[in-house]
Amino acid sequence: MTTHSHYRQYIADENAMCDFGKKLIHAICQLDNDNSVVLYLNGDLGAGKTTLSRGIIQALGHQGNVKSPTYTLVEEYYLQDKTIYHFDLYRLSDPEELEFMGIRDYFNKNTICLIEWTEKGAGLLAKPDLIVNIEYAETARELELIAQNARGEQIITLLTK
Ligand code: ADP
Ligand code: MG
Repeated sequence: MTTHSHYRQYIADENAMCDFGKKLIHAICQLDNDNSVVLYLNGDLGAGKTTLSRGIIQALGHQGNVKSPTYTLVEEYYLQDKTIYHFDLYRLSDPEELEFMGIRDYFNKNTICLIEWTEKGAGLLAKPDLIVNIEYAETARELELIAQNARGEQIITLLTK
């Protein structure tokens, strides 16, 4: 299989961001084994990290809202046969809090971890399979996926099929 380590996508508006989340999770669901997948979501405040997460989570059948887990640090979703952990570490003042919450257990097999503000948890988080960079492009966004390993490359390949 040809592998791709980079992927760029212009995202015109909020709906397009949700649609991209749907495509991304669809690719992830096609992975041929079900080890955990870790996505780092990078971008300034308001870039669309939570909107992308909402697209992913609602595509798996979640009906309600997806709020940014700013105060709780993590929100859990059990959908189909998947467990999704959506982290927002923006308010994390001491990385030790992550130790207290048993952060390592979140990166177990068969979980999908979406993490906003990863730099706040530096050293304590699992390494990403895929880094998602979102940048402002006037009112739209430029999204970039960068594979960090073979699994990340596989996801991009599945996405571009
Ligand atoms: P973050 O989690 O990165 O801080 P949010 O997803 O919470 O950002 O907020 C993104 C905001 O930007 C939302 O209000 C959304 O409606 C708006 N928006 C405008 N254009 C886009 C776009 N192309 N993609 C995603 N969000 C967009
Ligand atoms: Mg957010």
